[in-house]
Amino acid sequence: MPYYFDMSTNYRNYFAGETIFAQDEPGDCAYIVESGRVLISLQRDDQMLPILVVGQGEIFGEMAIIDRLPRSATAVALEDCRLCVVSRGSLDERVQRADPVVRLLLMMCIKRMRKMNSEVLIKTVDLEENQSIQDLNQMRASQEAVRAVKLEAQIAEAFKNGEFCMYYQPIVGLSTRVATGFEALIRWHSATQGALGPHMFMDALEESALMVPIGKWIIEQSLKDINTLRVLHKTNYTISINISARQLLEPDFVEHLESCRSSYKIRADEIKLEITERVLLQGEVALCAIESCRKLGYKVALDDFGTGYSSISYLREIELDVIKVDRAFTLHVLSHSKSKHITQSIMDLARALGLECIAEGVETEEVAKELVSMGCVLAQGYLFGKPEALKHYLGVHSAA
Ligand code: C2E
Ligand code: CA
Ligand code: CA
Repeated sequence: MPYYFDMSTNYRNYFAGETIFAQDEPGDCAYIVESGRVLISLQRDDQMLPILVVGQGEIFGEMAIIDRLPRSATAVALEDCRLCVVSRGSLDERVQRADPVVRLLLMMCIKRMRKMNSEVLIKTVDLEENQSIQDLNQMRASQEAVRAVKLEAQIAEAFKNGEFCMYYQPIVGLSTRVATGFEALIRWHSATQGALGPHMFMDALEESALMVPIGKWIIEQSLKDINTLRVLHKTNYTISINISARQLLEPDFVEHLESCRSSYKIRADEIKLEITERVLLQGEVALCAIESCRKLGYKVALDDFGTGYSSISYLREIELDVIKVDRAFTLHVLSHSKSKHITQSIMDLARALGLECIAEGVETEEVAKELVSMGCVLAQGYLFGKPEALKHYLGVHSAA
């Protein structure tokens, strides 16, 4: 018996002297050492050359997964060990999700380690053959890294040149069709590439430190513009602003928001901060910033509700004011009975918890009518208006 599973978890326990994996085997997982020590050795001729001892809190067996080559060494338990198993799928996903530059860095580190190891090894034919797969993976990783670095530089330049602007989409009362507020959505009018939507740059922006100054600008610009509209239309529209995780981690986030708000004399409860589950995964600091905003009267909306893994548990864990039902559900309320039941259940849940509910992505009259019959009060979508620049609304006195 080479190992036995811990009853309830993905831990494995090995006795001293047991082989955890052998050189040249295909790798299907990596291990984090919770207790005990593991000896990593290289085989040369008939001899095992010890190269490393891995102890508590260290990871091993990851190389074969990251560069998709067979195990380059043998791992044997030096003492009784308790190891947490990180599956190929799980590690792969984490590496793929990492910043492209970090991913490239990882691949390079592993390539160098393999090279160092192979200097004491007689190379096998298989290893030579696999070299081409490794080079291809590395080339892809380096292309992505270059793209990410370039995009970040372009975003910085564009921000300096004032190429970003805010668009506003009305949020309307479903029965009145009158706008009660607007959601601020960023656009990039690139001098070289034309108009670019957030899907072209938002991920890169959120990964970069530029999110902080650009996030501040988004808040300032949105409050300035909504103030202009409020004065012109003599209507106290609410403004919904998308907030990224990175912004909430800044120590002066609340202070900056408050200072912008007071410049334009907008009440805190007329500002909705739209956050996603991603924000909530940031831990205590982000949650504290959200809580401080709520104490000051800001409304907090959970965006894209229903698309994540744990939306419902977040309803219990943090205080919210609004949930926005994702377009994935509203789009299909007429054609897909499961979407209809899910949308209805979300609306019922919101009502039971005393939360405002906004249906996103309403494109047709039929869907709007169906949502009304479900008890939905507020909605947003192309049927009522696409996101537009401020100047679009300046001549329009009834916005929706
Ligand atoms: P979101 O916050 O869920 O914004 C709603 C998106 O749905 C917007 O896409 C909007 O244009 C689109 N939309 C609205 N109604 C309809 C409809 O009826 N049909 C269809 N097909 N689409 C509709 P957009 O502007 O491309 O923004 C995409 C995402 O980028 C946003 O999703 C948000 O997550 C992010 N984003 C946009 N602006 C900002 C920003 O200023 N700050 C941050 N942090 N994120 C932003
Ligand atoms: Ca949003
Ligand atoms: Ca959304």
